[in-house]
Amino acid sequence: METYTCEMHPDVHIDKPGKCPKCGMELTLSKDMGKTPNTGKKGSGRRCC
Ligand SMILES: [Zn+2]
Repeated sequence: METYTCEMHPDVHIDKPGKCPKCGMELTLSKDMGKTPNTGKKGSGRRCC
């Protein structure tokens, strides 16, 4: 699945090209392969301590 996201706002995911609703920056294509590196997400199903 391909989505478009904003470099400044990784939480923005839109299924078509356009501009970020938050900052107006051009969206970049982001393929969602199940991995979401560098999103600052805490814990992906696994908890420690
Ligand atoms: Zn943005």
